[in-house]
Amino acid sequence: MRWDVIIIGAGAAGLMCAAQAGYRGRRVLVLDNAKQPGRKILISGGGRCNFTNRLAGPHAYLCANPHFTKSALARYRAQDFIELMERHGVEYEERDHGQLFCTDSAKEIVRVLQTECDWAGVTLQLRTEILSVAQGAVDEERFVLHTSRGELTCQSLVVATGGLSLPKLGATPFGYRLAEQFGLPVRPTRAGLVPFTLHTQDKDDFAELSGISLPVILTAEDGQQFSEALLFTHRGISGPAVLQISSYWQAGQAVRINWLPGQDVSALLADWQQQHGAAELKTCLGRLLPKRLVEKLLERSGVANKPMRQYGHGELAALVQLLTDWRLLPNGTEGYRTAEVTLGGVDTDALSSKTMEAKAVPGLYFIGEVMDVTGWLGGFNFQWCWSSGWVAGQFV
Ligand code: FAD
Repeated sequence: MRWDVIIIGAGAAGLMCAAQAGYRGRRVLVLDNAKQPGRKILISGGGRCNFTNRLAGPHAYLCANPHFTKSALARYRAQDFIELMERHGVEYEERDHGQLFCTDSAKEIVRVLQTECDWAGVTLQLRTEILSVAQGAVDEERFVLHTSRGELTCQSLVVATGGLSLPKLGATPFGYRLAEQFGLPVRPTRAGLVPFTLHTQDKDDFAELSGISLPVILTAEDGQQFSEALLFTHRGISGPAVLQISSYWQAGQAVRINWLPGQDVSALLADWQQQHGAAELKTCLGRLLPKRLVEKLLERSGVANKPMRQYGHGELAALVQLLTDWRLLPNGTEGYRTAEVTLGGVDTDALSSKTMEAKAVPGLYFIGEVMDVTGWLGGFNFQWCWSSGWVAGQFV
């Protein structure tokens, strides 16, 4: 059967692109091997989908070409998606750092996208395996797809198959293999927005802190910093600060933790010495940090607990370092099993930032997470799906 546009992947990017192309009068087919569209949307944001971020901009994306995201993010902005939600009566709430979540359920987002696709006359075909893709002979049939449900041809082929995170939800490397088949480079992939695992000694030491969450500043070796919460778990460390920094971390590198963000710790210690000289360090620190954490930090660094007035200059300097620049060497990450995103992917140098079309293969488009574009935690990844999907939808 012949189509104008076939989109592989009925996720956030694929559905957005499909509706736009459909509204332009293109005959659009969306294929997916799953039995339900938008499954990642449904589980995202704890079931409430952090669907965009008011502060979305190129600064919040990792991409080998830092300029690549500018055009699409400017043409379809967070505000455009917010207005789409409002037109469909979706209620939402704003949390810290500009993050927008559904008030009710992530199902609302899938409902909106499916409604838009219905209105635009898009055909959705689920439970379909794509067995092979070949280049066709004529312009109207540039691509020939052999699928588990027969042969299909199209003029424009859009790859929206996402990344490798959450394999239990059916993530596949299909998009990367297809890019390679057509001669497009794929940048190495790894798990991003993912908890850290710890070396045995650290894991054993910190296991008893499991469940403690506190605000910190985490710094990666390249200087990237995030000021958010850190959570101790029975496997290692997690929480927003850790997920964010994981995207900037390479195996073998350390991260640095400031346990007292926003405090002038040197001044604080001096104040305690003068005002509370008889009070023990643990008691003073216990007013600002969880007591179990204070004990663990002092125990691990070999700092003696004694009345504040007994600390000398050298010891105070060591304390400042311990509290504001504590070095931790993660063992690794939890990997794709729990990662929210995949770093790397189809090299954006091979794609047009204005259309998402492969420069060397007319009619072949890549959108969403399959590309080498990864957002911070906080709704930025969905915004990239909306922006790249919308832009491609104007050209396919
Ligand atoms: P996907 O949503 O992964 O869709 C790809 C589609 O392609 C799927 O339907 C899949 O079935 C289909 N597919 C794959 N391979 C094939 C194949 N071989 N043949 C046919 N079909 C195929 N981001 C945010 O911005 N906010 C959040 O709150 C948020 N929460 C998240 C929570 C979790 C637990 C996870 C894992 C991710 C979260 N993300 C969040 C990231 C976000 O979900 C993804 O970046 C986004 O879903 C990517 O969309 P996509 O359309 O590119 O790909």
